[in-house]
Amino acid sequence: MKWQKEFVVNGRKYIFDGMSVSIITDEISTLRQNLSYKVPNSQRSSTLKTLCLVLNNSCNLCCKYCFANNGMYNKPNEFMTFETAKKSIDFLIKTVREYKKEKITISFFGGEPLLSFKLIENCVSYIESFKNINCKYMITTNGTLLTPEIVQYFQKYNFDTMISIDGNKKLHDYCRKFNSGCGSYDKVVRGINLFNKKDILNARVTISNHNSEIHTYIEDILELGIKRITFAVDYNISSYSFNLYIKSLKKLIDKYYDDIMQGKYYEITNFSNIIISLALHQRKLTFCNAGISYLTVSADGKYYMCPRFVGNNDFAFFDVEESDKAKGKMEAFKKNLLNNPGERNLKCKNCVYVFICGGMCYHHAIASGKNIFENVPRECYQRMVMFEGIIKMICKIPVKNRRKLLLFYITLWNSVKGGIDYV
Ligand code: SF4
Ligand code: SF4
Repeated sequence: MKWQKEFVVNGRKYIFDGMSVSIITDEISTLRQNLSYKVPNSQRSSTLKTLCLVLNNSCNLCCKYCFANNGMYNKPNEFMTFETAKKSIDFLIKTVREYKKEKITISFFGGEPLLSFKLIENCVSYIESFKNINCKYMITTNGTLLTPEIVQYFQKYNFDTMISIDGNKKLHDYCRKFNSGCGSYDKVVRGINLFNKKDILNARVTISNHNSEIHTYIEDILELGIKRITFAVDYNISSYSFNLYIKSLKKLIDKYYDDIMQGKYYEITNFSNIIISLALHQRKLTFCNAGISYLTVSADGKYYMCPRFVGNNDFAFFDVEESDKAKGKMEAFKKNLLNNPGERNLKCKNCVYVFICGGMCYHHAIASGKNIFENVPRECYQRMVMFEGIIKMICKIPVKNRRKLLLFYITLWNSVKGGIDYV
């Protein structure tokens, strides 16, 4: 296996070293030398610390690509009770205390979680009543039900607030409609404009057949005052749109570079994850932390790796009533993932990017009819394009601009309670 890859950027030779997750050159040995002392320790936890609560199986939108079948997970209109939420929170707190830790993250999800706002308030009050527990709150919402009171509440608790927005008005309205058939853009923008602290917002873009050229509309999202953007490609995107997306991704990286050089800073989390790994020489053993430090509880009280698996009994770990079985099941899963590299597919094992990537998304593999560790070639290809593009971009950026970029990220992350950590 060759653990190094050579790049020539502006006539200069750079080497990406996959083992140490670093860029080796004659004059800039690493990003870390300059920056790491200011970067918060974002090493992933190897024990449970985050619970995603699927508060309901209901949604007021009917988006074209929804993985949860209009938020219903094939079990329509189920709403989590406070009793279930409380048992899950107790389980999380008991577990972190066993490891003598006090930091937890609760992520509210749906359906549309704002249809259960009262439950959110009850969960937060309950968690805040614990001494020596420091909880960070996250929410993923379609943004259409935001009111001044809800926004004030999120700002009070510094909720890391992810709002789905699929481009400009025309694209978003096409992809994300109300059941009545009307587009939801105006309501979402009205909600975004209620925030004084826009730093706690993260725009989530789903790239599908209708909005594959992200470089053409990213500026429209930034103009809303949003400084953090995360994008993901719909598994069902056509080959034609996927190819357009790949071209657009390269143009987006060029635009990101130009903007950094002009002192215009914002975060694209897909890129910052790579940049931070390079800065800290972080070796990722898995693509995400689902099933290890992160679990999801469905509205009917079953634990899964992540929301994408909700309703798939093959991947239900245990029930909220039987959390005594939890530890053993999670340990077995973790052992399989982390201690058994033989399970990882050959392509990943032989990939120079494996420690910056972590391998395939388990759900993407399953949804593509493969086993949980198998490679999905198209997803893998887009990641390689991204790794290569970002590594080359970093090589081009002068050290002083890199420092400014990282300081910008850190300031942004500090606006969210408990900082940012991506699963
Ligand atoms: S998914 Fe692709 S890019 Fe990631 S480690 Fe595997 S082979 Fe490499
Ligand atoms: S990367 Fe895949 S397995 Fe991990 S949380 Fe996301 S959808 Fe789930």
